[in-house]
Amino acid sequence: MYDNYQRDINYLRVSITDRCNLRCRYCVPKEGLSLIGHDDILRYEEILRIVRIAVGLGIAKVRVTGGEPLVRRGVITFMTALKVIPGIEDLSLTTNGILLERYAADLRAAGVCRLNISLDSLNREKYYYITRGGSLANALRGIDAVFEQGFAPIKINVVAMKGFNDDEILDFAHLTLSRPFQVRFIELMPVGHTGRDNLGKYLACEEIMGTIERNYPLLPVNGARDRTDGPARIYRIDGGAGEIGFITAMSSHFCHQCNRLRLTAEGHLRSCLFSDAEIDLKGPLRSGCGDDRIEALIKEAIANKPRKHEIRPEGNYIRECGKNMSAIGG
Ligand code: SAM
Repeated sequence: MYDNYQRDINYLRVSITDRCNLRCRYCVPKEGLSLIGHDDILRYEEILRIVRIAVGLGIAKVRVTGGEPLVRRGVITFMTALKVIPGIEDLSLTTNGILLERYAADLRAAGVCRLNISLDSLNREKYYYITRGGSLANALRGIDAVFEQGFAPIKINVVAMKGFNDDEILDFAHLTLSRPFQVRFIELMPVGHTGRDNLGKYLACEEIMGTIERNYPLLPVNGARDRTDGPARIYRIDGGAGEIGFITAMSSHFCHQCNRLRLTAEGHLRSCLFSDAEIDLKGPLRSGCGDDRIEALIKEAIANKPRKHEIRPEGNYIRECGKNMSAIGG
């Protein structure tokens, strides 16, 4: 279905929990989270119903996220049920990788097409620091496990932060020399209260590219990309097995090509990551509405999708976006 700006809305990101086994400093505020009560989280069958209706309106690509999706009980059965919904062409998962070693084979069997794994440092202490207690070894074992399972592409998401991992840019780039991963540098977004906690850490992709290019020429990856690269600009180092992507959500927004809707764990539809305007689906669902009502609400979300966001890297975060990323799903 097309929105008012001729964007084909075919991608739904579904957050299945606001709970996480990590507490990343740019995602979860230092004072912690007030978690949604269990009864207020959408049940799997409710999510499946919404997805089925959304597929009828043109959604073909679904990404499951969180919180940390792999901490929710029953996630594999849920993914399996999602995958067989007629019309779903692409099912992917975003995870921090901590539980991936345990779930790699099951995710493969469930038919998950692609995985994005968050990894902000290759240094054990720094990883522990940024995640407030996470084990780098677990995350790396998870990545190895999905690689052995044959997942491709495997995308490694690195939130770039000045004074934290700007000294590891080349280490991440080197990962792509020997392994067929797509390492994607993501600009730090000033979302929710974590925006305030992380002032001064924003690092533009332009600077990251410069750092890499002083050491290796970056070759643009040309040709018809599959639709799954989304907004990333993709390059590779000559002879490298993998690719390097840049997600310039702040320095050069890609709203004109945004094809996404987001379903939050509490059952709200959000048409822009940076706008708190949400449409409640859970209320109508639980009061017994018919599919036509849900369909109308999804259409309303699409009709109200803003043309672009006005968020600046270090600026207007408090006014513009009240929710933290962990509550939205990234
Ligand atoms: N737990 C999963 C994970 O770690 O990937 C999925 C949820 S997480 C909210 C989804 C993505 O959002 C991650 O890649 C994370 O790095 C990114 N993210 C969270 N807060 C961010 C911020 N302030 N700026 C940029 N990316 C952010």
